[in-house]
Amino acid sequence: MQTDLAAAGPAVHGSIAGARLTIDLGALAANYRALAARSAPAETAAVVKADAYGLGIAHAVPALWSAGCRTFFVAYPAEGLAVRTAAPGARVFVLSGPMNEKAAGIIAGAGLIPVLNTAEDITLWRRAAGGPAALHVDTGMNRLGVSESEAAAFAAENTGDAAIPLTLVMSHLACADDPGHPLNRQQIESFQRVEALFEGIDSSLANSAGIMIGGDFRCTLTRAGIALYGGRAVNAGDNPMLPVVTAEAHILQVRRVPAGGVVGYGAAAKLERDTVVAIAATGYADGYHRSASGAGVPLRGVAAQGACGFLAGKRVPVVGRVSMDLTAFDITDCTKNIVPGDRIELFGANIPLDEVAEAAGTIGYELLTGLGRRYERVYVGGSGG
Ligand SMILES: *Cc1c(COP(=O)(O)O)cnc(C)c1O
Repeated sequence: MQTDLAAAGPAVHGSIAGARLTIDLGALAANYRALAARSAPAETAAVVKADAYGLGIAHAVPALWSAGCRTFFVAYPAEGLAVRTAAPGARVFVLSGPMNEKAAGIIAGAGLIPVLNTAEDITLWRRAAGGPAALHVDTGMNRLGVSESEAAAFAAENTGDAAIPLTLVMSHLACADDPGHPLNRQQIESFQRVEALFEGIDSSLANSAGIMIGGDFRCTLTRAGIALYGGRAVNAGDNPMLPVVTAEAHILQVRRVPAGGVVGYGAAAKLERDTVVAIAATGYADGYHRSASGAGVPLRGVAAQGACGFLAGKRVPVVGRVSMDLTAFDITDCTKNIVPGDRIELFGANIPLDEVAEAAGTIGYELLTGLGRRYERVYVGGSGG
């Protein structure tokens, strides 16, 4: 067991933190192997942008490397440098491209591979560095990438001495979380026309949800993100991945509030029964979203089921509004005597990450990447991959 985190700033020791994240690197490695099996015969890359979805590049990347991962994707060059340090032999793609002359020099110097998203990127990279690069082609999402016709023009003109050695052609799916969406078919047809322009070059289309769709979507390289970290990739059905992150908060106070009493800001929760309330050391500054308060914070008129924690074998609902550092839970139904210093699970093996995200009106991706820096971080299961 290892407690620390160089990559996310100063380490926070458990005795002085309000809440703890336990990150199971063994589960991360197992998820990688499961996704690699689904992707085969394609290679599976790990997407480790945003500090490995909040888990910490310095720990996640070596664990993924031990599990057999050799290719990584990041969003920005600075993240690429962190991967280079964590896994010196890795192939690292930078999704946001060369960005500017200075960044292009740094990318080239560190042996990172930029993803060229625009005609300007192509010109810049050729002028500034000219080494290996990937080409991103937009196939209908209208986010990043050159158009199909720009890709065709590039394929025709990228010859001779000034040619950029292209190592990958890629695109990104807009609706893979909804496997029946017609845009998936349209995007793969577009991408197959693109692949034909760049024969013999690696191709990549699938994110986690695309891996779940499988078949032709796999191409020769898949890009797994959220599923590695235990999040749900496809909207419907069971999530087959192991949970990787457990968040637990210290209980600071247990109080008995008679029926008719109120809890928290705005007196938003009015109690209908005599209630035992546990005040836990977590809040929206820890990425435990205020919008997970349920009825206390109406979110765009959507439904108002709040989040639940897990304590002594019971699901216990948030009561009242989540505040910056504190959240109240209704623990009346716990039969075990709960005392300050006990820990309540916010999400993990018992409360799925995506359930809390949904209660907050968001997705597991946003919950993970917004957890913040106040947690004690404990890494387990890290040796031997
Ligand atoms: C973030 C990202 C991924 C990973 O997506 P998941 O849904 O997390 O698997 C893959 N490709 C691109 C271009 C991305 O931006």
